[in-house]
Amino acid sequence: MPSSSIQARAPQGGVKADAGNHVQRDPDVLAGFLEDAAHFPGGHTDGLVAATCEADVANLLHGSLPVLPVGAQSSLTGGATPMGEVLLTTSRLNRIFKITSDSVHLEAGVTLTDLDAALRNAGRYYPPTPTFMGAFVGGTIATNAAGAATFKYGTTREWVQAITVVLPSGDVLDLERGRVMADGDGFEIRSTAGSTMRVPVPSYRLPQVAKLSAGYFAATGMDLIDLFIGSEGTLGVITEARLRVLPTRPALCLAFVPFAARLSALAFVRQLRGLARDTWRTKDPHGIDISAIEHMDVRCLELLREDGVDVANGVNIPAGSDIALLLTLELPPDMTAERAFDEIGGARDPGAPDGALRRFCRLLDAAGVLEDVDIAVPGDLARANQLLAVREAVPAAVNQRIGRAKQALDSRIEKTAADMIVPFDRL
Ligand SMILES: Cc1cc2nc3c(=O)[nH]c(=O)nc-3n(C[C@H](O)[C@H](O)[C@H](O)COP(=O)(O)OP(=O)(O)OC[C@H]3O[C@@H](n4cnc5c(N)ncnc54)[C@H](O)[C@@H]3O)c2cc1C
Repeated sequence: MPSSSIQARAPQGGVKADAGNHVQRDPDVLAGFLEDAAHFPGGHTDGLVAATCEADVANLLHGSLPVLPVGAQSSLTGGATPMGEVLLTTSRLNRIFKITSDSVHLEAGVTLTDLDAALRNAGRYYPPTPTFMGAFVGGTIATNAAGAATFKYGTTREWVQAITVVLPSGDVLDLERGRVMADGDGFEIRSTAGSTMRVPVPSYRLPQVAKLSAGYFAATGMDLIDLFIGSEGTLGVITEARLRVLPTRPALCLAFVPFAARLSALAFVRQLRGLARDTWRTKDPHGIDISAIEHMDVRCLELLREDGVDVANGVNIPAGSDIALLLTLELPPDMTAERAFDEIGGARDPGAPDGALRRFCRLLDAAGVLEDVDIAVPGDLARANQLLAVREAVPAAVNQRIGRAKQALDSRIEKTAADMIVPFDRL
């Protein structure tokens, strides 16, 4: 039975005001933590604590200094750049406790790369990852990260079943989805010291878009766990989580598809989105199942050509291309490269329906782009990495040009990187 009230507990090991966490003050070590991937200028700190347990986190927060928790510092907002706070790195909270058929219980400092490797061994899959796999699980929860496959899998929020959070007082909350739900206007948190804190639900309304990282989550009757997911470390430090996982891993096929006309590409995207949704609804094993659709506009394609990225990666961008799509097609887990090539070539058992890959090729043909497509079939990691390298080369190309412009034109030139989320119909 859900309640709007929760009792905090003391951290395992207890809070000791004089516990004396080891604070790293070596300027050479601190220098490596002064900026995140936003390269926001002016970062400074004079201390870094590498927590190894819940009590370390509680001791630090319980003290009088402002604290900034960080994961891999891959934030693109400057949120993981210290502005005088003591840094709390979760890099040593990196244990994976348990993997079951549908969940994984782990500490906040596990990287997505390590999580993926452990899940791969167990045959499980955690899909809502940001594009950067070096990010820590705690960081992805704190930012409600959402990667290219948000279209199919939603954001990190939908995959978080439980978290442990150390509050600024040093008290700890064990939050499990569905257990603490807002009543009329909020929640009640009862501290270990006997006081009660009333936490109101934010009163604004969130825009209805698939991906959203700005501001605290807000909804009538919301779950308290959702207030912490996406709160960017402002409400407490996440030390552990239980995440939902899928029992099997799909085989992935990537396709780089250049189009001569933007509107034709958008019409193709609309068609794919509709077909994918049909497949999810009907569970057709041969249906087209797309998890990610990314696009590079004409200027991106020019940058790739200018830098020779297309040639270096053996990717064909025909002259006159106005846009290119990078599509991720999901196929049954047992799909091999050999079978995929057979399907693309049109081979199939007599009487059997066309497989998803064959259907996909027919769509490409109907859109007039089949000849120009580059495909990485499941298992062809080398080709997949080349297609992904083409995508990654775009921001790298911009960064290089910014660097050159700073030197040659004006040192005040900065790049502002941000995700702009719009409903597909408004693209
Ligand atoms: C190449 C590249 C690609 C990216 N692609 C995507 C993408 O597709 N989608 C996307 O959403 N983001 C993306 N990002 C941004 C970034 O990777 C994500 O926001 C990621 O979730 C941040 O994780 P992190 O461990 O690096 O956290 P950090 O950057 O270290 O921290 C981010 C914020 O979370 C807080 N925080 C960190 N750990 C904790 C904790 N344990 N408890 C409480 N608060 C904490 C920090 O204080 C900070 O406010 C990308 C970044 C790069 C560099």
